[in-house]
Amino acid sequence: MKIETQQQTNYESSAVKIDNSTMLQGQKCLRAQAAIPKYIVIFSFHGEVSSERTRTSIQVAENYHIEAGDFGVYTNHSCDPNAAISAHFNAETLCATVKLVTLRKVRAGEELTFDYATTESTLTSELLNKLCLCNSSQCRKIMLGFNQLTDIQKDKLIEEDVVADYLYAT
Ligand SMILES: [Zn+2]
Repeated sequence: MKIETQQQTNYESSAVKIDNSTMLQGQKCLRAQAAIPKYIVIFSFHGEVSSERTRTSIQVAENYHIEAGDFGVYTNHSCDPNAAISAHFNAETLCATVKLVTLRKVRAGEELTFDYATTESTLTSELLNKLCLCNSSQCRKIMLGFNQLTDIQKDKLIEEDVVADYLYAT
């Protein structure tokens, strides 16, 4: 998904706050404090990229990653998420702007999630093939990057226009 505004200021919606996760015991989450409409930017941040993937980085280009930032780090994975990441990578400055955008109306009290397989070609060993606890009807049961999905799973995400283009564009 591409959201065309490329403003470089950091932004965090007042409609969400960091809270204890209900989905993941002992972990934090980003929770909606009020109903949030579809296609609303939840947070946006700008920063330098790194060639290293970490437990808390978000992939922004084929070989580049950015640390998820104060709010991003609490955005947990779901196989049926209510939000998606939109990243703009600048190859000249080696900086990126990352936004979390709602994919549907989010109810008050819901945890904000995105599908890690829509940004990450693979996951770090701490996450890859670990049990997924998203509990959605679409759950893949284990944590995967885009490269580990079946062709049917890849095609579904591409059709929904939620996959970063560096993961599949030729
Ligand atoms: Zn799942």
